[in-house]
Amino acid sequence: MALVDQNKRSIDYLRVSITDRCNLSCLYCKPRSGMSTLPHCEILQYEEILRIISVAVPLGIAHVRITGGEPLIRRGVLGFIRSLGTVPGIEDISLTTNGVLLESKARDLREAGIRRLNVSLDSLKPERFAQITGKDNWREVWRGIERAQQAGFEPLKINMVPVKGVNDDEILSFARLTLERALHVRFIEFMPIGADDRWRRDTCVSAAQVQEVIEREFGPLIPFSTKRSAGPSANHQIPGARGVIGFISPISKHFCAACRRLRLTADGKIRPCLLSDTEIDMKAPLRAGCSDAEIERLLRLALQIKPERHHLTDADSGPGACFERTMSRIGG
Ligand code: SAM
Repeated sequence: MALVDQNKRSIDYLRVSITDRCNLSCLYCKPRSGMSTLPHCEILQYEEILRIISVAVPLGIAHVRITGGEPLIRRGVLGFIRSLGTVPGIEDISLTTNGVLLESKARDLREAGIRRLNVSLDSLKPERFAQITGKDNWREVWRGIERAQQAGFEPLKINMVPVKGVNDDEILSFARLTLERALHVRFIEFMPIGADDRWRRDTCVSAAQVQEVIEREFGPLIPFSTKRSAGPSANHQIPGARGVIGFISPISKHFCAACRRLRLTADGKIRPCLLSDTEIDMKAPLRAGCSDAEIERLLRLALQIKPERHHLTDADSGPGACFERTMSRIGG
């Protein structure tokens, strides 16, 4: 029986975090106290991840996105992707990266089987990039983006989180990238995850506010859709542009009714909802030698506890709604 949850949502997409470590430390992704990382033995081995995926795919998981932390810093990632490609029934393997190591890995990633690539980039200004991420790597990321386009990743998606007073003055510069390049630039609303008190309703720039800024400059955007448009991004184009502009609005207009995801954290927890701390441990049963039937039971249990919707926008939630894990710990 396919993976259908309590609310009749068919689950076909698994986001897999392969590491909680990252080579950047972005303002909105890490707590002020700094980030501790898990010891290696707490992180699922590739074989363990593959085992879970081999059980999940026949149940209906067709799409797997590899994330982190920063997935490209984990040793053996290319071999892991190749092995993933041999799981019968898997249709699509994608990856999300900060792009720092992309220049040297773009071709290999494509050869290993990645077809869809997202790069997170929050500033087009090298100095500001360094302020946001704590590292002076903007040029590497930009060369990585160019190399990925040359390697045939099309569309390449750039994810940007606008934060008021930090980088919201760059919305138009990001939108302009789509005029000449076949890039998808996606504006993601800042969420109260792992950001301590940096998240406030008024530091989160809503999708509607971003769209207004863009339309003031370029006129009304044209809705854009493809066969693959079932994801959370509401896509548009500036008239005549080569690329696409997407809005992902977990805060202002949640898309929970259409959510088709589960997450697997680097330390082996199935997390049914990004914005709820309820998780199911897979690592202990796996390491105790559980059967495939037990893995399937736990996956189905995750569906039973998948919330109907998140509650971030409820009146009583606010900065206090910050979660136990940072995005790098969950697998953003
Ligand atoms: N290192 C990879 C990368 O940079 O894409 C994958 C992990 S990173 C945590 C995934 C995404 O989460 C990035 O696009 C980042 O901008 C986003 N992110 C992190 N914290 C966030 C927050 N509080 N609100 C919204 N997006 C956030």
